[in-house]
Amino acid sequence: MRRIYLDNNATTPLAPEVFEAMKPYLASDYGNASSIHWFGQNVKAAVETAREQVARLLGARAREIVLTSGGTEADNLAIFGILGAARQKEKHIITSSIEHHAVMNAGKALEQQGVEVTYLRVGSEGIVDPDDVGRAIRPETVLISIMHANNEIGTIQPVPEIARIAAEHDIYFHTDAVQSAGKIPLNVEELGVDLLSLSAHKIHGPQGVGALYVRRGTPLRPLLYGGHHERDRRAGTENVAGAVGFGKAAEMAANPAAGEIEGVARLRDQLESGILANVPQVRINGDPQRRLPSTSNLEFSYVEGEGFVIAMDLKGVACSTGAACSSGSLEPSHVMSAIRKTADQARSSIRFSLSRFNTMEDIQHTLEILPGVVEHLRSLSPRYKKPVAV
Ligand SMILES: *Cc1c(COP(=O)(O)O)cnc(C)c1O
Repeated sequence: MRRIYLDNNATTPLAPEVFEAMKPYLASDYGNASSIHWFGQNVKAAVETAREQVARLLGARAREIVLTSGGTEADNLAIFGILGAARQKEKHIITSSIEHHAVMNAGKALEQQGVEVTYLRVGSEGIVDPDDVGRAIRPETVLISIMHANNEIGTIQPVPEIARIAAEHDIYFHTDAVQSAGKIPLNVEELGVDLLSLSAHKIHGPQGVGALYVRRGTPLRPLLYGGHHERDRRAGTENVAGAVGFGKAAEMAANPAAGEIEGVARLRDQLESGILANVPQVRINGDPQRRLPSTSNLEFSYVEGEGFVIAMDLKGVACSTGAACSSGSLEPSHVMSAIRKTADQARSSIRFSLSRFNTMEDIQHTLEILPGVVEHLRSLSPRYKKPVAV
């Protein structure tokens, strides 16, 4: 059966070039990057090249990049790292109500430790109002963490405006840029951020590796203690092959082929307009303009999302009901609740997320099978009344 992958916000296929770059470090080029002999220095050089490649994607310096086990660890390191280094007694952080679980649940854990956390509401299109950030600031605010692009609905937050407000108040600002990397420009100077999270497997790199950008001079308490790796910010023997793959993926993300991102946007638009033209009672979730070029989140009234994902999967098309981590739970997604969706609307919402590996044939094939799946599921819904043709 032909299989089509439209769940790239969950993870992306490894780019062949990335696999090629990693191979030697899985097969023959072993060594501990802390060893002083040839084997160690050989892999150390590979890790440092990767660090430079990641830094270049962000317009940062290599020494500002802390390699981690992924986006989740980068988010946790940013939040607990800043909080742990802050000296005052009363601490407050500001984040949003649509963050990835890696930030949201870090906030919940901090609340247990007595830190006050403000979860800013967003508008119904899923965007944080920078004025709300300004209003939430208190004398004891030590960190603001607002994601760059949302993983469920793709909305892009006004990060430069929020970063300016944070800087005016001398508050550290972190952004989770895991989803925006490789899709929209990502320059730490233009964004004005102090900390920024990345994950390799969302940009066609391997799973289990990511990075936190830490602006020079930003105090950070480590999460992990051990050797002096990563300039004392993250102990543990380097994941050499992972770092090399991440570096290659970052290099490719920083230098996309001509028209590549526009091509993904065109496919997403074709998928979306094809669905809207052929299936009644479908609505776009989030902001149709200010969103990633690769993401489409649609509400199919009277369609049960899990059933839709399974029915599409049986026909070879992979999509999702939202964040991979919250799929399977009965609670509606916190992002959907935050954009004022009812539980029913949230349950009827489907995320399609594309990458440069998708083709026009993928979209055509999806558009051929999707209307039938929707119609079938609606026919099973007791509440659905077929619109009467006029
Ligand atoms: C996937 C994702 C993460 C987590 O990254 P991992 O490398 O899978 O731990 C964090 N934030 C966002 C926005 C993501 O999409």
